[in-house]
Amino acid sequence: MKVLIVEDERKVGQFVERALAEQSYTVQLVRSCAEARDALAESAFDAVILDLGLPDGDGLELLREWRAAGFNEPVLILSARDAVEDRIRGLNLGADDYLPKPFSVDEVLARVRSLLRRHAGTKATVLRHAGIKLDLLARNASLDDQPVELTSREFALLELFMANPGRVLTRTLIAEKVWEAPYDMETNLIDVYVRRLRQKFERPEGPALIRTVRGSGYQLA
Ligand code: CA
Repeated sequence: MKVLIVEDERKVGQFVERALAEQSYTVQLVRSCAEARDALAESAFDAVILDLGLPDGDGLELLREWRAAGFNEPVLILSARDAVEDRIRGLNLGADDYLPKPFSVDEVLARVRSLLRRHAGTKATVLRHAGIKLDLLARNASLDDQPVELTSREFALLELFMANPGRVLTRTLIAEKVWEAPYDMETNLIDVYVRRLRQKFERPEGPALIRTVRGSGYQLA
């Protein structure tokens, strides 16, 4: 489980980072909106702990951007602003929980655990998009109810796209999620696999299923 902490107060950030690391979470701590955007574009996270008052912007604005881009992992807001309006705004923008400062380490751990558990329980086991059906438990795929044979990598890549419709997936993120390896600029493996998915799922006269986003990666249209 990989958790992103966005917190500019050094002490608070390190305190949460240490607590999560001790519980065997993989943690990345960033201190600004810009760093948080980069972190989420470069790597996949299972949850985000988000402070609201950041040096270069508002955490709520980040949250709004992420949700609009299709990021749907749980987000726990951490903030000194405990006013009811802020809390409601955060939840309306797609936060899953809200923890006012100051908080205890046990409290933050309990909230993160419960968010991850709840999220795992509600994750869809059948994904559908444009006539494609991907059954994550039965491990099979179909297009317009016709079975389509996929290798396990093709399946993992299609699952990543279908779990993030409309989101631009960088080659770095795809390599990490599907191949569990850092992206190697020398190989065009990802492009080869994307081409195979296009051949299997795009209709001859239909619109593009997977768009190439020049300079950044791919996007399920
Ligand atoms: Ca702050």
